Amino acid sequence: MPIRTRRRAVPLAALTNLLELNLDSAEQFVRDLGWPRYRAQQIFRWLHRRRARDIKRMTDLSQAERARLSTIARIGRLEDCQILRSVDGTRKFLARLEDGLLVESVLIPDADRLTLCLSTQVGCTLDCGFCLTGKMGLRRNLKAHEIVDQVLTVQDHLDAGERVTNLVLMGMGEPLANLEAVSDAITRLTNASWGLGIAGRRITLSTAGLSPRLKDVAALRVNLAVSLNATTNEQRDRLMPAVNRVYPLDELLAACRNYVLLTRRRLTFEYVLLAGVNDTEQDAKRFTKLLNGMRCKVNLIPFNEFPGSPFKRPTDSAVLGFQSVLRRAGLDVFVRKSKGRDVLGACGQLGRLPGDQDPAPLTLAGASC
Ligand code: SAH
Repeated sequence: MPIRTRRRAVPLAALTNLLELNLDSAEQFVRDLGWPRYRAQQIFRWLHRRRARDIKRMTDLSQAERARLSTIARIGRLEDCQILRSVDGTRKFLARLEDGLLVESVLIPDADRLTLCLSTQVGCTLDCGFCLTGKMGLRRNLKAHEIVDQVLTVQDHLDAGERVTNLVLMGMGEPLANLEAVSDAITRLTNASWGLGIAGRRITLSTAGLSPRLKDVAALRVNLAVSLNATTNEQRDRLMPAVNRVYPLDELLAACRNYVLLTRRRLTFEYVLLAGVNDTEQDAKRFTKLLNGMRCKVNLIPFNEFPGSPFKRPTDSAVLGFQSVLRRAGLDVFVRKSKGRDVLGACGQLGRLPGDQDPAPLTLAGASC
């Protein structure tokens, strides 16, 4: 008669979450098991490229290896993903982290692109007055795998024939306040052998302007966008106090010029247009002086309102007027289409305040998955 061994249930917390390992620690992990080093890359391929949720699927490991791995490790992914669909095709994804907090990502279809906007923190340390995320404060930094998992989760739920073409780190949070996790995530997203193989030129990191860290973005070989949003220190202090009081405008612009020299890449400046606050002709003229001669392009973002927001969105003609002053000065200027506003999925609309309703009632055509 075969001997039946009773397996004791191991508490989840005692198992290593394979997704939480970076390549170095994964190599150490397999070495400790007495396995060859290349096993780490095999496992990573399953996690990232094939989005495996079950160790049993890792068929290039022997059955014995899979059984052994299952006794000490697990694959911990985001859970309870909810999708809010906007009338314009934009989709906001809300998914649960292991500690119960929600992470938000937004998928934005455009003519020939499908852009995914990722969060890097839950909430934000900064207090930009025009941004809902700033109002909720920082709950915590996301870990590298939680940033990557937003891509995996969205990929699990794409419509037939869809493929994510671009990533922007412009969701909840300030990426440069969580640089270590962000750079680890970018390694996993770009690595073409065991990672997702997304080209760095298709990834854009957006910062509120943590000047000394711009040079670190150069090393990541992704595009950089800087949220300028004001043309004088006094104005920027009012709109973005936490960042501008530490890294004032002149210091930020010097770091931007350095970045362009160092990388020879074109920088993007973002500018949220707030009616009657920073959208006048004088603002536009100061703007052109500040950026004089810099290799850059400009994205104007008409303010997206959220419940209780103190600012107003400028009229279309005010936006075009601002744009034309910049154009006349020779700048490459685009107006960002505001997508997903009906599901609070546009720039500055991510996050929830205490007492906010659960996401479901916001849904126009919500779906759980
Ligand atoms: N912390 C980073 C990334 C998150 S914000 C940063 O500041 O760049 C992403 C972009 O949305 C920034 O350019 C920000 O200025 C803009 N933004 C924030 N709130 C907005 C709102 N209510 N309407 C329009 N744009 C907004």
